[in-house]
Amino acid sequence: MKLVTMKFGGTSVGSAEAIRGAVQIIHDTCESEAERVVVVVSAMSGVTNLLQEGVVRAANGDPERSTAIAQIIRDKHEEAASDLLAELPTEDRGAVLAEIDGIVEDYRRFCESIGVLGEATPRALDATMGMGERMSARLVAGAIRGMGMAAQPVDATELIVTDTNFQSAAPLMDETRIKTRERLGALISNGIVPIVTGFIGATLDGRATTLGRGGSDYSAAILGAALGSDEVWIWTDVDGVMSADPRVVPDARILDTLSYREISELAYFGAKVLHPKTIRPVLEAGIALRVKNTFNPAHPGTQIVETNGVTSRPIKAVTAIRDLSLITVEGKGMLGVPGIAARTFGAVARTGTSVLMISQSSSEQSICFVVPLTTADSVIEAVNREFEAEIGRRDIDEVFSQDEVGIVTVVGGGMREVPGVAGKIFSATGADEVNVIAITQGSSECSISLVVASADVDRAVHAIHPLTMTD
Ligand code: ADP
Ligand code: ASP
Ligand code: MG
Repeated sequence: MKLVTMKFGGTSVGSAEAIRGAVQIIHDTCESEAERVVVVVSAMSGVTNLLQEGVVRAANGDPERSTAIAQIIRDKHEEAASDLLAELPTEDRGAVLAEIDGIVEDYRRFCESIGVLGEATPRALDATMGMGERMSARLVAGAIRGMGMAAQPVDATELIVTDTNFQSAAPLMDETRIKTRERLGALISNGIVPIVTGFIGATLDGRATTLGRGGSDYSAAILGAALGSDEVWIWTDVDGVMSADPRVVPDARILDTLSYREISELAYFGAKVLHPKTIRPVLEAGIALRVKNTFNPAHPGTQIVETNGVTSRPIKAVTAIRDLSLITVEGKGMLGVPGIAARTFGAVARTGTSVLMISQSSSEQSICFVVPLTTADSVIEAVNREFEAEIGRRDIDEVFSQDEVGIVTVVGGGMREVPGVAGKIFSATGADEVNVIAITQGSSECSISLVVASADVDRAVHAIHPLTMTD
């Protein structure tokens, strides 16, 4: 019998009405295809941001705002609960409400202690930011029981074991597999639908962690892989993966299929619809992946496939990341000196920054790389420190940043076979007077990235998007 792990995003559980739609989908999937289903849920939309803000405000000496936030969160969940749980026996409804109340109370008290400490550490943030998922899982499970099906909320802190990289933790898959199979296996074999919190995990010694913002997609992939799911379905608020961000390009089209490579590049280079870390676990475990719309379940959505046949268009989609900085390390004395790149990126890595894109001039007189804008100062400082001697000798002239840039990435597996694709991209951007600062081609040859000024990002996306419509 087929096992499907399905994840509902923040908007899909953002109101009582949305949750009702999600619950109907879960019900229909269990009924019609007699499948075993594991559900992963995000926090109600907006809640994670509020939780984070409350902790930060508490640390910065604004306890009134964090108390107000706790109240907003409580009201939001209680309002949804009073609508969704009407069908439940009084005792069950009371128990769900008490649990939600307990979570908000814990949050409020936590903010008080943070106020005393005066510091919101990554560890403290992780202890609180997953509370939205813990509440939504209880609401969704209650709503499913209201339809007469057995469902139970499960905190992923009991399933996903992670390293201690708070705010962006990585799963320890062996430990996770054992815990997940044991705990969820027991529920599934008893005909109970597990409603698991997305986004969170816990270290080996039980401290709460989060997998990074937008990480519930990743949770679904981790749990799907741990359980040996046949499929992972990502239920969101658009019909599928589109040829561009629909908020930037209103006439962006839904893509019926995409290869794992293409979706990886799209997600990595900014398409918010899927967390970039989602792909690897499903790909390695050979799990089918699908993106569908909670608000339009009849639409087939996007199916992620092994490869895309020769008939597919060379350019499938265009995406962008904003708020970046282009760092350049420059100097005539770098020519032929071994190890400059290794030392540069070693210095960057020590700041904990990940580099989004690298380009080196063939004359070896400069290395350019792109990092998030917020990290630029610390990166420049680290590189300057690393090359203090070289800078003193004038072998390296300068380490500087061009702030306010973005990366625009064009994705399509067919680009490899079709000549002249890069030419078309540059004609399109050139015609719209977008100045391209740097270029790289992805090693898988299914993407080309352009660095442009932040002010040009949307114009570049608009200029390139028509190419996704032509063969
Ligand atoms: P969820 O809460 O379900 O995880 P997200 O907001 O994280 O949803 O992701 C879905 C959103 O991603 C869409 O509403 C859309 O605005 C945005 N998006 C950006 N790029 C794309 C793209 N290429 N295709 C589809 N959606 C995209
Ligand atoms: N609730 C978390 C966030 O807002 C995780 C997610 O929605 O995927 O980042
Ligand atoms: Mg998301």
